Amino acid sequence: MYKAFLIKYAEIAVKGKNRYLFEDALVANIERQLAEVDGSFQVRKESGRIYVETEGAYSYEETVEALQRVFGIVGICPVLLVEDEGFDALAERVLRYVDETYPDKHFTFKVDARRARKNYPMTSMELAAALGEKILEAFPETRVDVHHPQVMLHIEVRPQINIYSTEIPGPGGMPTGTAGRAMLLLSGGIDSPVAGYMIAKRGVTLEATYFHAPPYTSERAKQKVIDLAKKVARYSGPIRLRVVNFTDIQLCIYEKCPHEELTIIMRRYMMKIAEHFAEEGSCLGLVTGESIGQVASQTMQSLAVTNEVCHMPVYRPLIAMDKQEIVRIAEQIDTYETSILPFEDCCTIFVAKHPVTKPSAKHIRISETHLADRIDELVQTAIDTTETILVN
Ligand code: ATP
Ligand code: MG
Repeated sequence: MYKAFLIKYAEIAVKGKNRYLFEDALVANIERQLAEVDGSFQVRKESGRIYVETEGAYSYEETVEALQRVFGIVGICPVLLVEDEGFDALAERVLRYVDETYPDKHFTFKVDARRARKNYPMTSMELAAALGEKILEAFPETRVDVHHPQVMLHIEVRPQINIYSTEIPGPGGMPTGTAGRAMLLLSGGIDSPVAGYMIAKRGVTLEATYFHAPPYTSERAKQKVIDLAKKVARYSGPIRLRVVNFTDIQLCIYEKCPHEELTIIMRRYMMKIAEHFAEEGSCLGLVTGESIGQVASQTMQSLAVTNEVCHMPVYRPLIAMDKQEIVRIAEQIDTYETSILPFEDCCTIFVAKHPVTKPSAKHIRISETHLADRIDELVQTAIDTTETILVN
């Protein structure tokens, strides 16, 4: 029945002179998502509004799902756009709309009329009252309730008249590409894909780095990370994924450092290498899936020691979240099922039985001096042999 959608966006409306940049990004992101959907779509900007118009057959469900992945969209309203051919023609069209949309007429409603075009012969109030009367006349089972209507019927007089009464929630956030770039440390776990999603939701373009330790971690573990990047990319747009061979660095740490410090030292090298690629890619920060206290390497002491090696800001969107809340988002964005596949990640191979939970930075720095004669070369080799995959 619907040939068009009115796209509502909130936050970006307040961006002053930059507003058109945000709107253009939103339009481009909508176009990118709809390119995956069967059908022919046209995205149009018109005085502070965005419309998606369809031509010919299309799948309503798929279209709505695609739009629900576009950050920046607050509401998706299936809308009828009709030409202004006088009040009687409008009333007739509105009655048909109500009849087709609500087979059961036992509902309360309110007409919310807005006259954005001031040369329309009736005021907003007059239009709402007149249409309300027509509806009550045609469908006597309906009732008006101006405070808590079950159906809010919007009639907006713009160049065309907009008729809509449904608003499907969008994901909110800011359009991708409007906030700079960040480097996500992406593992095969539950947390980091969610962290990436949350940062992308703020308009940030993502890159990602995965530390791989063959033969201790398998090709399937790597494929799992690629699959996770793909799932995040459905929202964020294409992600450039670096796959770093971390085995020799891990073995070297394993050989030379106290085992209870392995994880923390390893995490420091991960951060350094990720930061190298972040700088190369003009990223403005690193992103991890860490959350205070979740494991030994995520106590506040451990986070401080890990953080110490970075020059860039490290964004940790999950820092104050419980596992359950994180899992809920993972399920919602469809990464959970992939994350719980049982392939080892490189941290689980080299974990100590009793990792330090309150490392001191001074102590860790001393342990790292044992790596001095080889580590720079190993880091350089890891960087030089990194594989880059464009995931979309
Ligand atoms: P996740 O579920 O994201 O793997 P986790 O609870 O398993 O997190 P850790 O293994 O301690 O926690 O990792 C903390 C963070 O460090 C991860 O969220 C991720 O950002 C990063 N990280 C850990 N392992 C890797 C890896 N192999 N490659 C890239 N980043 C990693
Ligand atoms: Mg992990």
